[in-house]
Amino acid sequence: MVQDVTKECPPVDLAAEAERRGISYFLISYTDLSGAQRAKLVPASAIRGMQEKGAGFAGFAAAFQLSPADPDLVAVPDPATLIQLPWKPEVGWLASDLKMHGQFIEQGPRNTLRRMIARAGKMGLTVKTGVECEFFLLTPDGQAIGDPHDNAPKSCYDASALMRRYDVITEICDAMLHLGWEPYQNDHEDANGQFEMNWIFDEALVTADRHVFFKFMARSIAEKHGLRATFMPKPFMNLTGSGCHAHISLWKGDTNVCQADDDPLGLGLSAEGYHFVGGLIENADALCAFLNPVVNSYKRINAPRTVSGATWSPNSVTYAGDNRTHMIRVPGKGRFEMRLPDGAANPYLLQASLLAAGLDGLERRLDPGKPLDINMYTEGHTIRDAKKLPLNLLDAVRALDTCGAIRGLLGDGLVDPYIHLKMAEWNAYCSHLSEWERQVTLDC
Ligand code: ADP
Ligand code: MG
Ligand code: MG
Ligand code: MG
Ligand code: MG
Repeated sequence: MVQDVTKECPPVDLAAEAERRGISYFLISYTDLSGAQRAKLVPASAIRGMQEKGAGFAGFAAAFQLSPADPDLVAVPDPATLIQLPWKPEVGWLASDLKMHGQFIEQGPRNTLRRMIARAGKMGLTVKTGVECEFFLLTPDGQAIGDPHDNAPKSCYDASALMRRYDVITEICDAMLHLGWEPYQNDHEDANGQFEMNWIFDEALVTADRHVFFKFMARSIAEKHGLRATFMPKPFMNLTGSGCHAHISLWKGDTNVCQADDDPLGLGLSAEGYHFVGGLIENADALCAFLNPVVNSYKRINAPRTVSGATWSPNSVTYAGDNRTHMIRVPGKGRFEMRLPDGAANPYLLQASLLAAGLDGLERRLDPGKPLDINMYTEGHTIRDAKKLPLNLLDAVRALDTCGAIRGLLGDGLVDPYIHLKMAEWNAYCSHLSEWERQVTLDC
């Protein structure tokens, strides 16, 4: 249990907001350790009590390390996150913080991100982030690309395939415009049936809440249009997978402390910027447990070439300037793009773990070494000492288990239940007999 979760939100009276905005129901939601969104639908007439005391859940029924005998897990809605569902405005969505015995629980993913933000705050830093959520639009059964004509080998930026999905893409983009997220572009991505929609960066907690909501909104609006949106990292072996690149910068007031105009390495990063990158590099294998959190994640990273000619995902722990073949890209002065995360990452733990690794880099003044300006996909073999990424979920979870820095920062109370959950997932996967095993082993 932890006490140091500071809340600074405007005192919004949700009952009065319901009256003013015509909200009939509130969806009091939270994200569990697996990244799934759980919720209760509460009539506006009952919101006053729920705002004060929270909504009760049997924590064991969601993905937490809790027992059926534990007392209620209480989701206390954060009124600052209120969003009327653009596709059903009589419902008000709320992100919540999780408490038990009146205290914020360490297993709560949003609580964990708040703790990391508070830690950065103690160093005088405000963390700003942006995420790029790639997704596929599939048939409702999830078996095929929703658009049968979307089959060109090089389909990135395909104007016709994008316009055939105009109705669903613009319904989502209009919603973001209406919510004030400042979306600025939508495109067809590298794989058939794959899209990306971008809105501008903000403080880390705001971006994480929007990330959760974006996934929920994309799924809900796609469903309305007879499609299925999936953020699965690698739904088709021969196509580029869905990443969730995260862009980060650190601020003191209006000053981006990662930025320096006199950087001798020419990337526009300050010493702080390089130390943060050093922390991401040092802790990369442990980070994979959060950034690439499912068995399927490892079919996206370390992957063979796709039909488009590139995977666009990293295979080694390296960084570079504006070069998309490395794990970290520095696309412009004072910010870096972590290209490792995928669509299955828990939006809060994604940012909490990146922040923990980066703060470790700052605190220990870690050196990321020199940037590499080569094509890692074709010339990677020439860099003999480049650290490789974990090959599967088990490697990543074991790396997390023994990573003192990430453990120390995120806390055993988060890391141990997370490892327990992921080991159960790995063991379930191992107990599955695949067709491949039969094919290669039947005649042994
Ligand atoms: P690309 O595809 O080139 O990687 P995108 O435009 O798709 O880039 O996404 C870039 C993301 O990075 C956006 O969310 C953007 O707002 C965010 N971003 C831009 N500048 C910063 C910054 N200084 N700090 C954090 N995020 C940033
Ligand atoms: Mg009941
Ligand atoms: Mg992008
Ligand atoms: Mg992309
Ligand atoms: Mg990117």
